[in-house]
This record gives sequence, C-alpha cells and structure tokens, in this order.
Amino acid sequence: MPLLLVLLLVVFLWMVLTYRARQRVRDCRWRENRGLDTPEGRYFVCMNCGAETFSADNMPPRLCLKGVPDPR
Ligand SMILES: [Zn+2]
Repeated sequence: MPLLLVLLLVVFLWMVLTYRARQRVRDCRWRENRGLDTPEGRYFVCMNCGAETFSADNMPPRLCLKGVPDPR
C-alpha cells in the first residue's frame, strides 16, 4: 500500500511544519501602532522578526509572518 505510506509522510510533514510555526509564534512579539492604522485594520509589527501586518479584529496575528511566505 504505497498510498498509505505517502499519506503517513504527508501527515508527518504537516506535524513538523505546524510545530515549527508554533515555535515561531512564541518568539514573535507583536506591537500595535495606532498611528499607522488603515481602514483595513490595526497595524502590527513584529519586534522580533520585523514582519508587518494589518489586523481587522485589532488582535495581533497568531502566526509569525516572517519566513512563511518567502524564505530567504
Ligand atoms: Zn515575528
């Protein structure tokens, strides 16, 4: 059953990736900057990695945005 093996590998990889993401969140310290607010939401910048985002619900992101979309 090679399909089962592939499925197992995918699940394992997913667990590793989500674990890493969770580890990253701990290092992230989001600071809000009300001076840079837009109609889209509150401006947040990560003090640790420098990622910037806008939050519609005025809550800091749960995920570190650095390294997820573009690995350098
Ligand atoms: Zn960060």
